[in-house]
Amino acid sequence: MSDVLARLRALQAGDLPVHGGRTLAYVYDSGLADVDEVGRAAVAAYAGSNGLDPTAFPSLLTMENELVGFACRLLGAPSSTVGSVTSGGTESVLLAVQGARDSRPDIRRPRMVLPATAHAAFHKASHYFGVETAVVPVGPDFRADAAAMAAAIDDDTVLVVASAPSYAHGVVDPVTDIATAAAARGVRCHVDACIGGWVLPYAARLGRDVPPWTFDVEGVTSISVDLHKYAYTPKGTSILLHRTPALRKPQYFASADWPGYTMLNSTMQSTKSGGPLAAAWAVVQSIGDEGYLALSQEVFEAVDRIVTGVGSIGSLRVVVRPDSTLVALACDETCDPFTICDEMAAAGWYVQPQMSYADAPATVHLSVSAATLPHVDDFLAALAAAVKAAVAAGPVTVDPEVVAFIAALDPAALSDEDFDGLLAASGLIGDASAAGDGDSSAGNEAGGEGLALPERMAEVNAMLDVASPAMREALLIAFLDRLQRPC
Ligand SMILES: *Cc1c(COP(=O)(O)O)cnc(C)c1O
Repeated sequence: MSDVLARLRALQAGDLPVHGGRTLAYVYDSGLADVDEVGRAAVAAYAGSNGLDPTAFPSLLTMENELVGFACRLLGAPSSTVGSVTSGGTESVLLAVQGARDSRPDIRRPRMVLPATAHAAFHKASHYFGVETAVVPVGPDFRADAAAMAAAIDDDTVLVVASAPSYAHGVVDPVTDIATAAAARGVRCHVDACIGGWVLPYAARLGRDVPPWTFDVEGVTSISVDLHKYAYTPKGTSILLHRTPALRKPQYFASADWPGYTMLNSTMQSTKSGGPLAAAWAVVQSIGDEGYLALSQEVFEAVDRIVTGVGSIGSLRVVVRPDSTLVALACDETCDPFTICDEMAAAGWYVQPQMSYADAPATVHLSVSAATLPHVDDFLAALAAAVKAAVAAGPVTVDPEVVAFIAALDPAALSDEDFDGLLAASGLIGDASAAGDGDSSAGNEAGGEGLALPERMAEVNAMLDVASPAMREALLIAFLDRLQRPC
């Protein structure tokens, strides 16, 4: 058995570190080792418990209600507010859309109005639940255009969405104007605070300028807030709050139409591990309100120092002054963000590439954690060095033949042969018979039919960046399909 755990640890050594404040996307680190230990112990203690039936595991219901109560107090919720713990931000968003759709069975072709910066989870919800999207361009400050969104509401609209903040740019939408417009048409308004919901209320308490976005805003009917982001809990929990029980009603699902137990679910999962919920409860109890205030002070100090520091790095700029803990960086024509990401990775920092979209340039995304604060000077030094190296290398270019190859492909009908052709044209795969033997000295063995990722991703990202969004989706799906092969 110790062999198995040793192998597990060896496998994990190839992953991004989840602690240490040097991974600026995917993970959120409080830097509190004792709290982390409590979270891990709670996951282990509840790994086998089943949230399927709250009468069989009443402790899980107690913990869920206490977490929801904490969120209600944080988000200015009136006493009528109810909520559920879900598995993550995507599930919270999916349920907000599903509930909005099913609250209006009279509408044959339901629609939702989204700012262009809304999280991709809303497009997933559209795909799963057949709710059409009306995507409204955002303003020059990357915030939703409330007037244009109001104008986009029609008789088939079941939901209007705002972000607090948006993932890509870290700014809070004008929630008051959006929610007022939705309420005037009798339409639900969901605020996606998956990433900001646990930190913005503390920012306001610290005296920072935070535009109104919580239940204090009339017309906001539901809010999603992830625990596994800025509540710094282990992965697997988010909260979806509804202003009233009636608004939550369509989210419930029961089926007595079979010979087994009556299935009764508040979220998408049925059997669900008690581990994430117990861990979230334990971490939130351990950190507590004052602890989150202190962590917020730390993370905003880190954000402010990063924003200031970027100002003295040539060729680089902050795209928009962040309202929260997310920073988007863009460069001038002397370098490109993908090379900066590679250089940072080589120096032991993970920063996330974001493709260009509509008129917005490709950027580098930072989700700053409290644990990054002690390392901000190191971070800025690494960033300055990465930019310098990226300028020396010059902007990455994509082979015109590869551009032409991509342009000639139809994303709706991308075949395995097309994908192989592109891999060969772009040099990502050579002779398929020679690769995949487990000895990929040229790069990371990514598994699956000899597909090997290069150490440096700038060329791959630049290639994706010249493709249309539909083509990027098709290429990435083809790629994931290759990766996921049994071994
Ligand atoms: C992270 C995020 C989501 C999706 O959450 P997951 O936990 O990754 O499923 C939705 N909206 C926003 C704004 C987010 O930042």
